[in-house]
Amino acid sequence: MEYSDQFLRAVLDSVDVGVAVIDCDGKIVFVNDRWITFGQRNGVPDTMQWLGVNYLAVCEEAAETGDCLALEAVQGIHQILNAELHSFSLEYPCHSDAEKRWFMMRVSCFVTDGKRLCVLSHQNITERKLAEEKVLSLSRQDGLTGLYNRRYFDEFYQQEWNRCLRQSLPITLVLFDIDHFKSVNDIYGHQVGDQHLRSVAQCANTFAKRPGDICARYGGEEFVLVLGNTRGEEAAMLATRLVSEIEALDIPNEMSPASPVLTISAGVVTRVPDKSMHKESLIEEADRLLYRAKKKGRNQLCAANIRSVQPKAEESII
Ligand code: GH3
Ligand code: MG
Ligand code: MG
Repeated sequence: MEYSDQFLRAVLDSVDVGVAVIDCDGKIVFVNDRWITFGQRNGVPDTMQWLGVNYLAVCEEAAETGDCLALEAVQGIHQILNAELHSFSLEYPCHSDAEKRWFMMRVSCFVTDGKRLCVLSHQNITERKLAEEKVLSLSRQDGLTGLYNRRYFDEFYQQEWNRCLRQSLPITLVLFDIDHFKSVNDIYGHQVGDQHLRSVAQCANTFAKRPGDICARYGGEEFVLVLGNTRGEEAAMLATRLVSEIEALDIPNEMSPASPVLTISAGVVTRVPDKSMHKESLIEEADRLLYRAKKKGRNQLCAANIRSVQPKAEESII
C-alpha cells in the first residue's frame, strides 16, 4: 500500500512528540506540528520559521556557555551524522517558571537520495521523572519521624566526609540517644512513644540548617546530626543547646531515674579528615562518647577533646 505525503504528514503531526529532521550541516529541513506548538507555548513567536534554522549551531552556542547537556547533545548528534552511532538519547531538565519538566531527546538517522539525515525527537518524560523523584525521596526517609533514614545518612556522610577531606574542613557528628526510653513505652504505651520520637526528631531537625548538615534517625531511639565545616567548640555549643531544648519539651518520663522528663545523651566528635582516617572511626568515637555521657548520669553530652579547628570560608562545591 502506498501512502500519500499528506497521510504521512498527518501521522507525524498526530504524535505527542516534537519531531525535527536536520541535514548533515545541522539545518532543520522538517518539523512536525508538536515541535511548532511546543515552541509557541514556550515563548517562540508564532511567526518563527523553523526550516533553515541551524539546530546544531544553536546547541553549540549553548554548549559554549557551559551547558553540559547541550554539549552532550552536540556530541551525540555529530556521532549520528558521522555514522559512529546508530541511535542516541539524552534526558534533560527544561523547567518552566510554573512547573518542573524533563524531556528525552532521541536521535536517529536515515539516508535518502544519498544524503544522511538526522531525526530528532523530544518527548515529555516529566511524569516518570516526578515518580522517580518521589521514590528516591521515600527511599531516603524514615517512615515514623520523616527524618532521613540510616541509608541516606550513610550516603550523605560519605559525601560530606569526602568534601571536608578535599577542602581540609572540620566535620562533626552528634550521636544522641533518648534516655530511658523503654520506660516511656512501658508506662505510656508504644503509640505515645512513637509520638515522642516524632517530637524529638522535629526539634533535632532544626539544628541541621546548612546544605552540609543533616539530621537522621540512626536506629530505634538513636539519632545523628552530621554538621559539615563545623568546628568542635561550635558543635559542643549546638549539642548543649540540643540537650536542653529536648529537656524543655517537657515530655513526661516519670519512671526515668535520670529526670522526670524526656532527656537525651549525646556524643560529639569533630575531626578534619585526612587520608589516613576512616570515616567509621568518627562514628565509633561518637558512640563511645555517647556511652560515657550515659554513664555520667544522662541528660548531657560528652565531646571529644580536640584541638581547636577553625572553619574555613566555604569553597565552591563541585
Ligand atoms: P538508655 O538510657 O540506656 O538508652 O535506656 P533506654 O531504655 O532508652 O534503652 P533501651 O535500649 O533499653 O531501650 C530502647 C527502647 O526504645 C526500647 C525500644 O522498644 C524503644 N524503641 C525503639 N524504636 C522505637 C520506635 O520506633 N517506637 C517506639 N515507641 N519505641 C521504640
Ligand atoms: Mg535510649
Ligand atoms: Mg538506644
